[in-house]
Amino acid sequence: MQFRDLKAQYWNLKAEIDDAMLGVVSDCNFIGGKQVKELEEGLASYVGVKHCITCANGTDALTMAMMAWGVGKGDAVFVPDFTFFSSGEVVSHCGATPIFVDVNEKTFNIDCESLEKAIKIVSKEGKLNPKAVIAVDLFGLPAEFDNLKEIAEKYNLLLLEDGAQGFGGHIADDNGSFKRACSFGDIATTSFFPAKPLGCYGDGGAVFTDSDEWADVLRSIAVHGKGAQKYDNIRIGMNSRLDAIQAAILKVKFKAFVNYELEDVNKVARWYNERLSDVVRTPGIADCYFSSWAQYTIKLKNRKSRDILQTKLKEHDIPSAVYYSKPMHEQAAFGGDGTCMHYVTMMDYSITERLCNTVLSLPMHPYLSEKDVEIVCTTIKEYLYDM
Ligand SMILES: *Cc1c(COP(=O)(O)O)cnc(C)c1O
Repeated sequence: MQFRDLKAQYWNLKAEIDDAMLGVVSDCNFIGGKQVKELEEGLASYVGVKHCITCANGTDALTMAMMAWGVGKGDAVFVPDFTFFSSGEVVSHCGATPIFVDVNEKTFNIDCESLEKAIKIVSKEGKLNPKAVIAVDLFGLPAEFDNLKEIAEKYNLLLLEDGAQGFGGHIADDNGSFKRACSFGDIATTSFFPAKPLGCYGDGGAVFTDSDEWADVLRSIAVHGKGAQKYDNIRIGMNSRLDAIQAAILKVKFKAFVNYELEDVNKVARWYNERLSDVVRTPGIADCYFSSWAQYTIKLKNRKSRDILQTKLKEHDIPSAVYYSKPMHEQAAFGGDGTCMHYVTMMDYSITERLCNTVLSLPMHPYLSEKDVEIVCTTIKEYLYDM
């Protein structure tokens, strides 16, 4: 059993993917061009925003957004305490201070009440300029964007959606229409790292926005701060492009993602829910939310029972993973930034700390069979009855 079965996906799409890769190689058009342009148009239209700018990876996508907004020294950027390192790294990288915020125990996403508290603490102190919020769609579930938008407007903050894990998810409204992940926030980003909901065969990423002005700046930043012409450089940028070969692969995988993978992975989530919701705490998805299930993450009673369960699964050759074992505010990398640590001492991270001790992510991908789900769940139940 695979944690995320990329081989099964390849065998399913082999003829088309091989064709796509060979097409790029025989065209010898390796950077930019038709493949990248078509992919960007397809992604923007699916997500429902005006612009998609692809780039080299999801971390660069976040960095480019920070750069486009001119985030820098003296700025405070609010980041969930329970997320992948990148979400906070990019803030420090541009010289600003990440302010870590506790998350909601049910959704794993940034907690709106804690966010508002953190904004007030930083504002009251008056040392930093509250500039932006990075809301992460953790494990595939969109963050609480209705509330987040309100808070961002109230405190005049820019809202960045880190949709690295969220691509394909959505939030519906009462009328049955919905908005997709990567359309929330003033700018949104995603990652095409192989294990993400929509992955390529290496590194890749994208930035989404409705703003023509930011889109221009982002395209410039991605190519060394180019001006109207390539060798006219009007700002300090970076070299962050998606390879044509990755774009060609993504075009094939994107079709499968939209046509059936997203439905199939939701079916797998239902199989897990049916078998596990009475025995462990299963992921809670509110009615109008739709997850792309980057991870299926259960919660155990405490660290000991989580760790023993993981060992037991391993004995049965069932892969599992702990995302994440350490809160952002405990990462040594942020410890050197006195400003960052100063704010850490003023916040409460009890939920993130508990999650780090109790979460366990189970095998999850669109090619998982009901039989394999049954094996995983039976093993979990045996363990729990033995306790
Ligand atoms: C994977 C991930 C990123 C970074 O994406 P890369 O393509 O690996 O650089 C950023 N944020 C979150 C939440 C992620 O899961």
